[in-house]
Amino acid sequence: MSFKKFFFALIIIIIIISGMYIISGNQKETKQDLNNSDNQITKSEGSEFLMDTLIRIRIHDENSKQILEEAFNKVRFLENLLSKTNPESDISNINNNAKIKYVSVEDETYELLKEAKYFSNLTNGAFDPSIGPLVKLWGIGTEDQKIPSDEEIQKALELINYKNIIFAEDNKVMLSEDSMMIDLGAIAKGFAADYLIKYFKEENVESAFINMGGNVSVHGKKIDGSDWKVGIQDPDQSRGNIIAVVEGSDISVVTSGNYERYFTEDGIRYHHILNPETGYPAWNKIISSTIISSDSSYADALSTSLYILGVEKSFDLIKEFDHIYIVLVTEDNMIYASKELKEITTFTDDRFTVQYR
Ligand code: ADP
Ligand code: MG
Repeated sequence: MSFKKFFFALIIIIIIISGMYIISGNQKETKQDLNNSDNQITKSEGSEFLMDTLIRIRIHDENSKQILEEAFNKVRFLENLLSKTNPESDISNINNNAKIKYVSVEDETYELLKEAKYFSNLTNGAFDPSIGPLVKLWGIGTEDQKIPSDEEIQKALELINYKNIIFAEDNKVMLSEDSMMIDLGAIAKGFAADYLIKYFKEENVESAFINMGGNVSVHGKKIDGSDWKVGIQDPDQSRGNIIAVVEGSDISVVTSGNYERYFTEDGIRYHHILNPETGYPAWNKIISSTIISSDSSYADALSTSLYILGVEKSFDLIKEFDHIYIVLVTEDNMIYASKELKEITTFTDDRFTVQYR
């Protein structure tokens, strides 16, 4: 190799190494850092932008590389079924055939829609996957975001009713009214996380960590045998700042808040969690709601729902479940937390007063 070529190769290597450093530097802020332990067992990690969010997965297993690759394939598969922007997806197919005909969907879509309807019943319609027309009207987080007129809101509200999502044998689904639209944004990531965890269990993966834009699921314990530490995002600060740390294994921690997708007009914050009763962004004094559960679909669907329901109704609702714990932050700097969390949660910010219930 001539000196010139050698020199050129050296420069390339330096660029690659410093690039890698910058990438890992960028990841520093995340909750994952609470668990950084460089163990020798085969570890693979990667991130991809899918399902409208940055998805990061870390796996410890002898076959971690293949499993990681397959995990992202599975998320891609789900995205292709569930996306409302992809015209080929099951969801687009259902939406485009509203009041026209039943549509045959994949098992996963069918199962998820049934689950979504279950949460609508459970929350008395606070959670409603037929929220699509209202989400579209507000356009929060898109270039078209705006405060709609009351008339527009009333018109959209007429289309929203989960009871009009109807099911038939053989994976068939239909929306019974014209112009209805399904939007699974409040539950799809939780469903995907559970789907991956199920796969990891089948593959006997020892330990894994999934972060879907702040929805965290951990499988097993950390590779050194200790519990995972998962941070709860501070609703008033940028990504990566936390108000609490939850320790555990085989849990999912999901937060919904008004701090990520919103716009402000005349001092009022219009955010992306919509109340299907009023047609406006939900406002019940909660600024962030976190669910800790073994099941990420529950955590995801309920984090959105409890945000809408407010503190009292939320604690009433979760009473009947023994695998769901909650942390609700309100605008007056109170934190209301399930008493079962006392042992496994450390609150790290004295701006807040914590009340266990
Ligand atoms: P994120 O996706 O930001 O983590 P959420 O899980 O709380 O947050 O889901 C919010 C998304 O759910 C919205 O962007 C919208 O697509 C959808 N959505 C908004 N309001 C409702 C509702 N009342 N019921 C069901 N889905 C909703
Ligand atoms: Mg949710």
